[in-house]
Amino acid sequence: MDAAARVLELSETIPDFPKPGIVFRDLTPAFADPTTFRAVVDELAHSIDGGFDVVAGIEARGFLLASALAYSTNTHLLAIRKEGKLPGDVIREEYALEYGTAALELKPSSIPARSRVLVVDDVLATGGSCLAAARLIERAGSDIAGFGIVMALDGLGGVEALTGYELRVLLHEP
Ligand code: AMP
Repeated sequence: MDAAARVLELSETIPDFPKPGIVFRDLTPAFADPTTFRAVVDELAHSIDGGFDVVAGIEARGFLLASALAYSTNTHLLAIRKEGKLPGDVIREEYALEYGTAALELKPSSIPARSRVLVVDDVLATGGSCLAAARLIERAGSDIAGFGIVMALDGLGGVEALTGYELRVLLHEP
């Protein structure tokens, strides 16, 4: 069984979480399984043409993937955090949510100059958080090598939003 099939088998679908109308895809049971997590990390590690020298995780479940990937590929680890969590000089990008807005932040001093950055997250929905992460990284003077996503939720626009960037998705779900 490949990584995508294992993730599909082990992940859980929770209707109306965290609010009514959202169908939450919980991949953490798949990440908890050592064979599946290793297969996911290995596939993402070899997914981007031209390689990368930084792996950025989007808070919070992206951190799980990014730290394992940075370790296994011997690359720099970068945390892209929700607003208000990082101390010191940070840059900030807002993005639209279904209701209202949210923001991600990055500490420019935490990323080596002119890096090629692989951005990873568990689920891609509208693409708002990935695009905000890309804007932060580009403002900090580095390039996006690509995005590594475990599950894309089709029909929410995320894949289309990331047109022009290299994108590796292990599994597409309706
Ligand atoms: P978006 O910015 O709309 O692409 O949303 C992606 C981010 O929100 C990722 O960090 C996901 O972990 C989380 N997310 C959004 N929708 C879902 C969902 N239906 N199930 C699980 N996570 C989600």
